[in-house]
Amino acid sequence: MTDRYDVIIVGTGAGGGTLAHALAPSGKKILLLERGDFLPRETQNWEPGAVFVDGRYISPDTWYDAGGTPFQPQVHYYVGGATKMYGAALYRLRPADFGPIRYSDGESPAWPIGYADLEPYYTRAEWLYQVHGNHGEDPTEGAASKQYPWPPVSHEPRIAQLADDMAASGYHPFHAPCGILLDEDRRPASTCIRCAWCDGYPCLVHAKADAEVIAVRPLLGLPTVTLLTGAEVTGLATDPSGRAVTQVRVDRAGQRETYGADIVVLAAGAANTAKILLRSASDRHPRGLANGSDQVGRNYMFHNSKAVAALAKEPNETVYQKTLGLNDFYLSDGSRPPLGNIQLLGKSNPAAMKGEEPKLTRLAPHWSLEEVARHSVDIWLTTEDLPMPGNRVTVDGEGNVHLAYRFTNATETDGLYRELKTILNKTGLAAHHVLSKNFYMDMAVPIAGVAHQAGTARFGPDPLTCVADITCKAHELDNLYFADASIFPSIGAVNPALTVMANAIRVGDHLAERLR
Ligand SMILES: Cc1cc2nc3c(=O)[nH]c(=O)nc-3n(C[C@H](O)[C@H](O)[C@H](O)COP(=O)(O)OP(=O)(O)OC[C@H]3O[C@@H](n4cnc5c(N)ncnc54)[C@H](O)[C@@H]3O)c2cc1C
Repeated sequence: MTDRYDVIIVGTGAGGGTLAHALAPSGKKILLLERGDFLPRETQNWEPGAVFVDGRYISPDTWYDAGGTPFQPQVHYYVGGATKMYGAALYRLRPADFGPIRYSDGESPAWPIGYADLEPYYTRAEWLYQVHGNHGEDPTEGAASKQYPWPPVSHEPRIAQLADDMAASGYHPFHAPCGILLDEDRRPASTCIRCAWCDGYPCLVHAKADAEVIAVRPLLGLPTVTLLTGAEVTGLATDPSGRAVTQVRVDRAGQRETYGADIVVLAAGAANTAKILLRSASDRHPRGLANGSDQVGRNYMFHNSKAVAALAKEPNETVYQKTLGLNDFYLSDGSRPPLGNIQLLGKSNPAAMKGEEPKLTRLAPHWSLEEVARHSVDIWLTTEDLPMPGNRVTVDGEGNVHLAYRFTNATETDGLYRELKTILNKTGLAAHHVLSKNFYMDMAVPIAGVAHQAGTARFGPDPLTCVADITCKAHELDNLYFADASIFPSIGAVNPALTVMANAIRVGDHLAERLR
């Protein structure tokens, strides 16, 4: 079967879902191909054991590390993609992130566009995803043409105290940008009940601003938009010249199908976008589609992150904890390189912390795990990792993903942790403990925590070093685009989703103009 559309979008996450939403008003015939289904709304959505221990919503994929060791990556194949599970901390990259940045292990390359180019799209993404915050509080942020659509989510008492303690010690805490459907002034009208099940959980009441709720669902009744779920794209075929994608090959319910469109957009997430290209090798594209540069799959990034449980004597009764951020160490102060972002995580609970029990109860020997969870303030540290050519996704003969990754910027990661310890000492949170990444990522192998995956098809003007051009069109093809985190030339040290969404809207404007 070959059906024809104006645009086919592969993937419905932060990139693909947002792009579809941006393009739909053009009236063009759009096909969304999503390998997953709708995430079921069920009581397990909010059960930490089901979500964090049993990994109920994680794909059964097996990937392999550089040594060939299998691992289960933390990927989520649903309508809405990774945003179904995300913490909805919707940060802009800082203006400095768009330029080159020197780190101890090398240089983070500049983006081919500047902060000012993306700013209007950041604003549109913040309004679409209903972000709560207060532009102007964080000294590191760039100028915003418009305030957030919603005021910042208020701190609960323990976090308000922490913010005050930080400010009294000379730091600059700010209200973190949160994408939740919360109206604190008219609470009965709000769908968000301000619960603890946001960061890392699907939202049972659809009150998290994820790509399914915000971008894809509103399109479902439109006659011009078709969504096929359970539709895994396995490859793309081109015309004899190799310049135009003519067929999108799909496995759906055990059947092979093909679809065609004037424009094809890959937004399958960094690793899967690379996988689709690499599996689409042909005579014209022997190393994989759009891969004459041998850059497809390379420069994979996913942040250098640490979760920290800071234990204080007084209990922390906070429910929705993700309201505070700190960027005092985000930029270089001249004497040291940039270290990264500090923000609060969703509140920990005993069931989710189960895997960390021995370490945590050794740290606080008089407390049960319940008490440890009750007293902890949960903090997330993010340092930028570098796009290294050898950090790369490849695909073997059976179509399995192999992920080679070497950590970078350990000096900066350690520096950020040292600064955090100083903060904790100054704010009465002296006892603390670093948890491994699996606390948040639910994975024993660090590289399996692929939540912030980016790179693999970076964009830029030079076809020798970049897969896509500045419009996010593949250099080597006339009708193939990218709209996910694969295009990131560097990742900065803030959460990536808002940048993916903003860029997808930018790509949407370009495509609407091209198709006019
Ligand atoms: C637990 C968790 C917490 C996070 N918290 C935050 C946060 O607080 N803030 C933030 O900014 N970011 C956060 N992130 C990261 C954020 O969700 C991602 O950066 C973002 O969703 C990436 O967008 P994307 O479009 O590249 O990929 P995705 O959103 O993952 O979308 C990819 C889509 O493609 C589909 N797909 C894959 N392969 C195929 C195929 N072959 N055929 C068809 N469809 C396919 C997938 O099912 C998926 O729907 C978090 C992620 C996780 C997992």
